[in-house]
Amino acid sequence: MNFQYWEPQIEKMPRSELEALQLQKLRQEIGYALATPFYRERLGTVGIKNPDDIKTLADLRRIPFTTKNDLRDGFPYGFLSIPKEEVVRLHASSGTTGTPTTIYFSSDDLKRWTNNMARCIFGTGCTKHDVFQNMISYGLFTGGLGLHQGGEAVGMLVIPSGSGNTARQFKLMQDFGTTVVHATPSFLLHVEAKMREVGVKRESLVIKRAFAGAEPYSEDTRRRIESLLNIDVYNSYGLSEMNGPSVAFECQCKNGMHIWEDAYIAEIIDPETLEPVKEGEIGELVLTILCREATPVLRYRSRDLTGFYTEPCPCGRTHRRLRRITGRSDDMLIINGVNVFPSQIEEVIMGMKEVGNNYLIVVEKEGALDRLTVKTEVGPDIFTDDSRPLNALKERIRETLQVSISISPRVELHESGSLPVSEGKAVRVQDKRPKDV
Ligand code: ADP
Ligand code: ZN
Repeated sequence: MNFQYWEPQIEKMPRSELEALQLQKLRQEIGYALATPFYRERLGTVGIKNPDDIKTLADLRRIPFTTKNDLRDGFPYGFLSIPKEEVVRLHASSGTTGTPTTIYFSSDDLKRWTNNMARCIFGTGCTKHDVFQNMISYGLFTGGLGLHQGGEAVGMLVIPSGSGNTARQFKLMQDFGTTVVHATPSFLLHVEAKMREVGVKRESLVIKRAFAGAEPYSEDTRRRIESLLNIDVYNSYGLSEMNGPSVAFECQCKNGMHIWEDAYIAEIIDPETLEPVKEGEIGELVLTILCREATPVLRYRSRDLTGFYTEPCPCGRTHRRLRRITGRSDDMLIINGVNVFPSQIEEVIMGMKEVGNNYLIVVEKEGALDRLTVKTEVGPDIFTDDSRPLNALKERIRETLQVSISISPRVELHESGSLPVSEGKAVRVQDKRPKDV
C-alpha cells in the first residue's frame, strides 16, 4: 500500500521522542490549566502549583479525574484560561446524556485542531483532487466544522451540505462528482436505502470513501456500508471536550484508530476501580488534551469503552491505535438484572443479511418485569400473504439474540424506511421504564 503522511516526522516519531514531546506539552497545558478557576483549585489540592511540579509523565496520575459534571458545574467560564477577547470560537457537545458542555478556542487552537484533522483525512489517502461532501450537522456540533476545516486544509473541494435531505445530497454528489463523504454510520445506511428506493444508480456516483463516526457502530455495520455502497469506510472518533473529531482516526489499514499522542494523552481505566487496565484490555478511555490553550481539560473521563491494539500498525505510524468504541459505560441497559449493551444487539442484527439498515431497541415495564423489544427493518419481499418466512426470520433473530445477550427479546419486523431516522446521532434505544423504579 502507498501510505501518505501529512506530518511524517510527527506521525512516525520514535516512541521515546513522542513521550518526551508529551511531557513538554503536558507541562505547558498545566500552565494553561493553572490559569483557570477550576484547575487552580483542583490542582492545588494535590500540590501542583506550577508546571515544573510535573517531573515525569507518570505524575499525570496525581491529578484527579475531570468529569462531564465538572464541566457542567464550571459553565460558562470556569475552564477558560485566556482572556475572553482572545477567544474566537465556541462549540458544545451534542447533549446526548444531558446538558451540553461548552469548549472555547483561541485562533491558534483552531489552527492546531485543523492540522490534526488534516492529518486524519490525508492519512486515508485523500488529496486535493478529492471532492468532499460533509453530510453532518454544522453549528455548535464539532463534527461539521471540524471535518470542514480539515478538508480545506488538505485542499479538497469541500461541499458543506450538512445532514439530512437525501434527495439534495444525491444531486450534489452527481453535480459535483463527490468522491468522499462524512456522515454518521446510521445516515450512510439511510442514504443507501434511499438510493435503492428512489432509483439512484451507483454508476451515477464516483464516491469512493466515507468517514463515519460520532456514534458507535459495529464492524458488521462497516462491512455492510462498504459492500452496499462499494466504498472504503474509515472510523472517526472524537468528543467535543477534546476538540471534537481528530482525536483518533483510522489509517488506510483500517484496523483501529490512531490516537494523536502529540495532541492527547490517553489512559484506559477500569471504570469501577479507576485503576489502569493492563495494556490491551478494554476499559474507559481517559483523555488529556495537549493542544488547546483556551480550555485545558485534564484526565477527562470520556465514559467511552475501548482498549489499545498492542501490535504496531503496518502503516509505520507510532501513535497507538484504539479499538472500535463499543459504547459508553453509561449506555449499558440492565434488563431483568442482565447487563446488555446496545452494541451487542447491533452486532447480531447487522450481521444478518435479511435485516435492513435501521433498527430500534425498546425497553418497557410489563408488570414487574422488563420487556425488551428489538424492531428491525426488512426488505419488502418478505411481506406477502404467506406469513411463514416472516415468522421464521423473526424466530431466527430472536434465537440469535438470545444466545448473544442471554435475554429473549420480542422481535418486530418493519418495512424499510418505516423506523424513525435521526438527522444527528441515531437514537437507537427507547427506555420507557419509569425512572424511579
Ligand atoms: P455528546 O457527548 O453529548 O454525545 P459529542 O458530540 O461530544 O457529544 O459526542 C462525543 C461522543 O460521541 C463520544 O464520547 C462517543 O461516545 C461518541 N462517538 C464519537 N465518535 C465515535 C465513534 N467513531 N465510535 C463510537 N462512538 C463515537
Ligand atoms: Zn496505521
